[in-house]
Amino acid sequence: MEVFLGLGGNVGDTAAAFRSAFRSLAAFLRDARISSFYRTRPRYLEDQPPFLNAVVIGRTFLGPRELLAAVQGVEAGHGRDRSREIRKGPRTLDIDILLYGDAVLDLPDLVVPHPGLPERLFALVPLLELAPGLVDPRTDRPFAELAAALPDQGIYLEGEAGL
Ligand code: ADP
Ligand code: MG
Repeated sequence: MEVFLGLGGNVGDTAAAFRSAFRSLAAFLRDARISSFYRTRPRYLEDQPPFLNAVVIGRTFLGPRELLAAVQGVEAGHGRDRSREIRKGPRTLDIDILLYGDAVLDLPDLVVPHPGLPERLFALVPLLELAPGLVDPRTDRPFAELAAALPDQGIYLEGEAGL
């Protein structure tokens, strides 16, 4: 299954965390590729440092829940400790499942496509860099169309991943 993962963080050396996480993800993602890194304005809880965001694409044999457990293991390996966090606040490394093929899942602990995706340019911009023609399986609308309709959210290209 082709999957897209959204990476985010704003505590510590996030670029280094992304590069290291990408190596960990490659253990269960075939042909993994990562987008450029983007510096992005915090949403929801705005009084915190800017985030770095990127998207990883790859193919996996893991089922959706196995994939969630695997990415949570990578988060934990990079200093993520949910019990000590403010919701929507600063974190070292967040990895969300944005898309799992064209599956639409509404499980208690796993919603795919990620419910925030259609409104979050910090996820859509790097996603579209990797897959410009991608269509939202929930609405059948191209993500490019959804992104074009959103107001400016402060997304700035920071640089190539160098991977
Ligand atoms: P955030 O909403 O800021 O990403 P967390 O990373 O702490 O917060 O995630 C909270 C919960 O969201 C996880 O425990 C997980 O079960 C749930 N969740 C639901 N859908 C998804 C998804 N598509 N990707 C990742 N986590 C998800
Ligand atoms: Mg998350």
